[in-house]
Amino acid sequence: MRTTDPQFRPLALKLTRTIFVWATVCALAFGAFQAVLVYQSERQRFVEELDRVATTTVPLLSVLLWDIEPAAVQRQVDLLSQRSDVGSVRLVVSTGQAFAAGRAMPADDDGMRRVFVVPAPGDEDAMLGSLTVQGDLRNLWLQVAHSVGVMLLGLGFLTLMMCAVMAWVVHATFVRPLRQVARFATELTPQTLTTPLHVRRAQLAGRDEIDLVVDGFALLQRSLRSHIDELDERVAQRTRELEDALGAIRALSMTDPLTGCLTRLAFNERMAQEVQRAQRYGRPLAVLFVDIDHFKRINDRYGHLVGDAAIAHVGELLRAHLREGIDWVARYGGEEFVVVLPETTLEAALLTGERLRAAQAAQPCVHGELRVKQTLSVGVAAWRQGEALEALLQRADNLLYEAKSGGRNRVVCEPPPLTGP
Ligand code: GH3
Ligand code: MG
Ligand code: MG
Repeated sequence: MRTTDPQFRPLALKLTRTIFVWATVCALAFGAFQAVLVYQSERQRFVEELDRVATTTVPLLSVLLWDIEPAAVQRQVDLLSQRSDVGSVRLVVSTGQAFAAGRAMPADDDGMRRVFVVPAPGDEDAMLGSLTVQGDLRNLWLQVAHSVGVMLLGLGFLTLMMCAVMAWVVHATFVRPLRQVARFATELTPQTLTTPLHVRRAQLAGRDEIDLVVDGFALLQRSLRSHIDELDERVAQRTRELEDALGAIRALSMTDPLTGCLTRLAFNERMAQEVQRAQRYGRPLAVLFVDIDHFKRINDRYGHLVGDAAIAHVGELLRAHLREGIDWVARYGGEEFVVVLPETTLEAALLTGERLRAAQAAQPCVHGELRVKQTLSVGVAAWRQGEALEALLQRADNLLYEAKSGGRNRVVCEPPPLTGP
């Protein structure tokens, strides 16, 4: 899995770098400690070497001094100074004569300067001179540097090997499984939520933290799945409730509670469909605009409660006298109704209007002790092919107005359309 994040640093690289830095620090600290130990042991060996070299030379010098062989003494002093551990040599004879050889050495380290007595041959108590041997410090340091250098080289190689092995182990043990987990998590969707996480890696005995992560994922997926299922169920339940409520509201908004007729809203919806249908199949369609005559007087005389009952009575009467399942009626305004007659010609609609008017005239509204007489005025219009709904309603309204102005309690129909020559 690749990442484009510029801040991304691979885990294996981070761990390896950290291990490398600390391994280097430890190696250096260990190297410094070893350097002190090596210095001490080298110095010890150095001093012993000086002593050994000098003591083997002293008997020879003793003989040469006794034989008074200055040239041979000087050669021995030269030879001694040429030894790798020796820096300079000085032989002072009891007569005051001195022999010297080698490089001048800083004389501040007494431990590196050894003084030997050169006795007379066969007489240890008689002193012929004193031999001062100064060690070569540079050589000592070279020895120490060599030993420490070899050790540091070994440690460095070991550190590099350790880092390489660690990087490989970290990559195989953590990085590869973790990347699979990360890829799985990013590709997880509600649809793939039940897909289990499989981490491909070397099969080791027992379980480890990666297995715990896999278990955790499985648990998380299960609880997410059940949570989503629960939410889905709750949403479905709410949706059903809302649909029911919407249905109830719709039914309420479609039916006028007072008359049981359709409302103006329902009329608009259904009438548009009726016009469409008549248009598509070339079928007749007629409407009756029905208005209660002098209704205001009923209200004024008997009160609004009786007025309501009178309106309800007309609504009921209209519905009762129409073809069930075909004709329908809507309360268009206060005491105004519109009767829709599909599949009905103007002539048939006129007859229906007349039938309704007569029925109402014969059937007063009974409210308790009261018998409220009321009449209807009706405007009858038939839809014409291609005509807009508004135009049809306007014509029907005009005809109703004519019925009113003509004396009320009557049906006015538009003149039938001219047919043929
Ligand atoms: P016209 O013969 O010309 O139709 O006279 P009208 O009195 O019937 O007509 P108008 O439009 O003057 O009065 C209608 C009255 O109907 C006015 C209003 O207060 C009353 N009305 C409208 N809706 C209702 C209702 O739901 N209940 C009751 N009680 N009265 C209503
Ligand atoms: Mg009226
Ligand atoms: Mg009116």
